[in-house]
Amino acid sequence: MGFFLNLNMSIKEKIIKFATKFQSDDIAKSYPLDYCVPVYHAVSNYHLPHLKHIINYKSEQEFEQDLDQLSQHFQFVNWDEFKEFINGNFKPKKKIALLTFDDGLSEFHDVVVPILERKGIYAINFINPKFIGNTDLMYRCKASILMERVLKSDERELHVFQDVLPNDNFKKLLIGKLNKIKYEERNKLDLLEKSFKGGYRDYLIDYQPYMTLDQLKSVTAKGFGISSHGFDHPLYHELTLEEQMKNSIQSHYFLKKFHFIEESFAFPFTDFGVKREFFEEIFSINDLFCSFGSAGLKVDSFAKNIQRIPMEKGKDANQILKEEIAYFNLKKIVNKNTIQRK
Ligand SMILES: [Zn+2]
Repeated sequence: MGFFLNLNMSIKEKIIKFATKFQSDDIAKSYPLDYCVPVYHAVSNYHLPHLKHIINYKSEQEFEQDLDQLSQHFQFVNWDEFKEFINGNFKPKKKIALLTFDDGLSEFHDVVVPILERKGIYAINFINPKFIGNTDLMYRCKASILMERVLKSDERELHVFQDVLPNDNFKKLLIGKLNKIKYEERNKLDLLEKSFKGGYRDYLIDYQPYMTLDQLKSVTAKGFGISSHGFDHPLYHELTLEEQMKNSIQSHYFLKKFHFIEESFAFPFTDFGVKREFFEEIFSINDLFCSFGSAGLKVDSFAKNIQRIPMEKGKDANQILKEEIAYFNLKKIVNKNTIQRK
């Protein structure tokens, strides 16, 4: 399964790469929709073990370059302008872009906001209330820390297995296992905490990966948006409808309580496989304006679910946009640009 999955991915990547060669340099013109919603997590010049193995985040310089490129093609809007635009009441000069971030990481407060203030660009951050103030870490961040420990571990520690499996392969095997641990098995990552000194608690104190409640209030006071990303970052299609609702509502009430933006929701990881019944229920119960996925340049059969473009792919904004446009145009031929929800 893994092998075929990789094979398919690489064929897909090759096709995109090939099609991108014929893509026009005039991105503003060739971009097929009238809105663009890029999504980032963090921006940092540092090596962050809790993110390094799960997110290919950009440096400050790379992020600024992305913003400059995006500004050439699009007009950045804030949340109210975005809503007015979707409602048909805001007529922009260019196609619009809404800048989004996920996970409520402290780099948003420390690094991103100062850059955006200098450039006069708005962004909204979708957060998980469970992790505010660094009381716990999202399970994938725990996996990333453990992967880092395996990579950096002393060869001698693993030497006992050398006869059965060379060290490098053994490390690869462990990392592969850690990378596959699912949301419902996240207690496995807590059990592994005992295997290293200090554990997640010390890590949380040292690195302060998430924004505190005061920092969330401070970025809001500066004009930025804070909205919902589910309570503790589950993978939605692995949950029952009841669990999906519970996780979303728990997060929604937190946002409401502290007067953050309660009328939107961005799916943690992906909205892939989430059924229409969830959308219908959550939109009626929480009175949402829209929700966000991150499937790239696509439209959704549930029109109020807006797809965003992941920007942390080790490429600059222009290259990502060109590839997305090329892939969109290819899929247009086979009518595959709309995500169907049953
Ligand atoms: Zn997330």
